[in-house]
Amino acid sequence: MRLSRYFLPILKETPKEAEIVSHRLMLRAGMIRQQSAGIYAWLPLGHRVLNKIQRIVEEEQNRSGAVQLLMPTIQSADLWRESGRYDAYGKEMLRIEDRHGRDMLFGPTNEEMVTDIFRSYVRSYKDLPLNLYHIQWKFRDEVRPRFGIMRGREFLMKDAYSFDLDKERATESYQRMFVAYLRTFSRMGLTAIPMKADTGPIGGDLSHEFIVLASTGESEVFLDKDILELPIPEENIDFNSDLSGIIDQWTTPYAATDEMHDEAAFEAVAEDKKVSARGIEVGHIFYFGTKYSEPMGAKVMTAEGKETPVHMGSYGIGVSRLLGAIIEACHDDNGIVWPKEVAPFHVGLINMKVGSECDEVCESLYGELEKAGVEVLFDDRKTSAGAKFASMDLIGLPYQLVVGPRGLKSGEVEVKDRATGEREMMTPEAAVNKLI
Ligand code: ATP
Ligand code: MG
Ligand code: MG
Ligand code: MG
Repeated sequence: MRLSRYFLPILKETPKEAEIVSHRLMLRAGMIRQQSAGIYAWLPLGHRVLNKIQRIVEEEQNRSGAVQLLMPTIQSADLWRESGRYDAYGKEMLRIEDRHGRDMLFGPTNEEMVTDIFRSYVRSYKDLPLNLYHIQWKFRDEVRPRFGIMRGREFLMKDAYSFDLDKERATESYQRMFVAYLRTFSRMGLTAIPMKADTGPIGGDLSHEFIVLASTGESEVFLDKDILELPIPEENIDFNSDLSGIIDQWTTPYAATDEMHDEAAFEAVAEDKKVSARGIEVGHIFYFGTKYSEPMGAKVMTAEGKETPVHMGSYGIGVSRLLGAIIEACHDDNGIVWPKEVAPFHVGLINMKVGSECDEVCESLYGELEKAGVEVLFDDRKTSAGAKFASMDLIGLPYQLVVGPRGLKSGEVEVKDRATGEREMMTPEAAVNKLI
């Protein structure tokens, strides 16, 4: 992509309305623009990162055996009357009336709708287990939307829903999602810690929030440092095998949010391993048994020919919130430092002097890298080299490839690693080899 033809509205001034660093950087880097309170347009650079995050989420959901579909954003109130949540949900739900006077709503979540889809087609235990997910915009009329896309009103969520014959099998579905979540967040360069969460009226211990530590997080958390050292399950993990060993390992060190905090249990943690910190909820998994299947009549036939309501769970990931969480974790004084897997482009190619011998070298580097499938943002504008460096640092691409007249005298270009700040001079060929 040539920057001269792109749309990257970088702001020079730090926007006053932004209270936290990720929000400031997203606005300055031209990634998002607020259209109404808590409602954002995703500008090209932000949209690219959103897509990368979405892709990782999809890959890991698919790997774990979940099946993707797409449900609408607008739902009928009648479905929610069946579960009893239409009145219970309260003011966070955006209620809409259509021209025929029918009550509709902009979905804050999809348990009712997916249960309706399930009950319309699935009749037998033989079709289980089933896990259906989608990545779709949600609307929650938050009292206090803030921190940019971190607490938006319209936001992108991955929500999966599992269907099983009984609690034991539902627990296995839960464990598959647990493992998929560990892998998903780790691939984005995040340390997300599963913490015991409140199961409300359902009871039991099958609910975990995945929390990324950050001083600006809205949750207060307590943990045993040991949990930070645990290994992430490998890509080739067999999701049909018994995963309970991994779950045990990850649920043994103390880790809880303030809602579930047990002071006595935390006291038992060695003094030098106790951490109290703040964190961002990036995911939440939940087993809720027959809470929806019972009232909505989502039943299957057992092997014995008896009808039984299915056991369900739901599993959310805050896809758009993750951009904020990643930036909170990955930035320095000069801007964002994207982990490679989610970076909007891999390389920022800088022509330090447009209209000189640099042009030809840049064109050839750009062509070769693009041909090799490397995503390059080529700053070919006629602005000062200083401004180009500052913009590249701000948008945080993993590598900068700098072509300047001085280096070219000895036939060399510079490769800068954004994360370490290391710079290296090399021939254009060596640079291409390094970056592909
Ligand atoms: P929170 O405690 O932050 O209000 P929640 O517990 O209400 O979140 P869930 O219903 O568990 O949210 O939804 C699943 C995921 O969706 C959350 O873990 C979070 O990552 C994301 N999410 C929820 N609300 C928002 C929001 N207003 N803006 C952006 N992401 C959100
Ligand atoms: Mg909430
Ligand atoms: Mg929450
Ligand atoms: Mg939650």
